[in-house]
Amino acid sequence: MAKRNRGSLQLRHVDAGSCNGCELEIASIFSPVYDAERFGMRLEASPRHADGLLVTGPVTRNMADPLRKTFEAVPNPRVVVAVGDCARNCGVFSGAYGVEGAVADVVPVDLEIPGCPPDPQTIITALRGLSGT
Ligand code: SF4
Repeated sequence: MAKRNRGSLQLRHVDAGSCNGCELEIASIFSPVYDAERFGMRLEASPRHADGLLVTGPVTRNMADPLRKTFEAVPNPRVVVAVGDCARNCGVFSGAYGVEGAVADVVPVDLEIPGCPPDPQTIITALRGLSGT
């Protein structure tokens, strides 16, 4: 994976339909134990101030359009990171009536982080490949 954001990575998180397990692990990477901010990573409130999106969960039908709109609001060059097996391939929610598809079925994905959920160190290591830190 190319290093696109050297030294810094500001991400807007979008929960597209997660069970909240991946959110707990994402919250953990910003805890004092893992401290992802020391690698220049931060969560941004506005997609207009972000380098990319951190997307969790399968994309539900209700979240497909909000995800597309949030993606369009991120300035170019932008990256999309699919966090967890549900984001990668719908995981345990595959085939569920309310699921539109995986994240890559809705917006282009640059990086996938496997796991159900992925542990904090796995998330940080993958994101460092993007930030170049
Ligand atoms: S990958 Fe696992 S922890 Fe993450 S949203 Fe899906 S079921 Fe939940």
